[in-house]
Amino acid sequence: MDCCASSNNRETAKTGRCPSCGEKGKGLSIITLKSLLIASSLETIEPDNTYFFCPNSSCNTVYFSGTHLQTFEEDALKVPVFQKNSSMHVPVCYCFNWTRDRLFQAYSDNLQPIEHIKEHVQSNRCGCEVNNPQGACCLGNVTAYLRSLNERKVEEI
Ligand SMILES: [Zn+2]
Repeated sequence: MDCCASSNNRETAKTGRCPSCGEKGKGLSIITLKSLLIASSLETIEPDNTYFFCPNSSCNTVYFSGTHLQTFEEDALKVPVFQKNSSMHVPVCYCFNWTRDRLFQAYSDNLQPIEHIKEHVQSNRCGCEVNNPQGACCLGNVTAYLRSLNERKVEEI
């Protein structure tokens, strides 16, 4: 399931290689940068360029442009970036503010946080394109994070 399928325009179909780590980046709509960059960084973007998100957790570059090798790190954004920041206060689901902490708490209480999130997504309430630094649906990250909690639990037993 992808909540932002309707926003998957031609920009997001493009790929580029991160100039810092070489990983394949995901193409973004410019609105994602416009929403999430702090003012001093926003003042330097070239809206006609295609920007990409680097998902590599061991790379400091969050956004890059293939055209002028422009890069932005986490401090250029208004929000912490899930893929680049392992703190518990960082959102996994940005739209509905499910931080690692909150997901961990819900998981520990045997609640089903993913079902809550899916319900809002299915009701078309999410806005990943302007809230989530990756510019796309968070559900994959939420599922992966909950799975990692599950695996940790199994290891403890
Ligand atoms: Zn990178």
